[in-house]
Amino acid sequence: MKLTGRQERIVEIVKDLGPISSGRIAQKLNLTRGALRPDLAILTMAGILEARPKVGYFYSGKSPQTVVAEHILGLRVRDLKSVPVVVSQQATVYDSIVTMFVEDVGTLFVVAEGGNLEGVVSRKDLLKAAMGNTNLKAMPVTVIMTRRPHIVTITADDTVYAAAKKLIDNEVDALPVVRVVGPGGQEKTEVVGRITKTTITRLFVELGEGK
Ligand code: ADP
Repeated sequence: MKLTGRQERIVEIVKDLGPISSGRIAQKLNLTRGALRPDLAILTMAGILEARPKVGYFYSGKSPQTVVAEHILGLRVRDLKSVPVVVSQQATVYDSIVTMFVEDVGTLFVVAEGGNLEGVVSRKDLLKAAMGNTNLKAMPVTVIMTRRPHIVTITADDTVYAAAKKLIDNEVDALPVVRVVGPGGQEKTEVVGRITKTTITRLFVELGEGK
């Protein structure tokens, strides 16, 4: 969050003299209280200043950077995930390539009948298969997918930060968002969404635009 010159002066005054009333801040800046109100509202909403009735404004101790960091750490995967694109375990490599083009995604999740997550297929997995002299229409996708237990997953309750860290640490482009359902011993891992590097890049752009 980038503060305007006036907002920075307000923060300085409140840091030095707080708790301080809006009337006194206005006096210091030779402004009317009405002219000051939008800036005070922004600074309070951003969490940089706090207002207490009958006491006045005081500095929260949080820089704009801290406020943005707290915002990022508070975001959950459930707030940002997109719909997963899946293929069945019976799909061929050819089917998977078609699905990747039609759905315009870079990673497919392979699910068994009943919805259990079995594997992940990336663009390069499919390219590698296509480079061999094999019949792609006869080759099951299960032959080339990355399978359990090697799949890196995330849940809707996890933070977006944790998802971004897993993407970077494991050098993958996408994570399936999963929900484990069913009784112990017979748990099923359902795919309920996906988080990709695009998701994180979009968030970065939105933060840059102050959204
Ligand atoms: P690409 O292979 O197109 O560069 P990735 O970097 O995402 O795309 O994939 C690299 C490898 O990691 C592939 O073999 C793929 O099957 C596997 N992979 C992709 N996503 C995951 C994931 N979430 N968990 C485990 N392995 C994955």
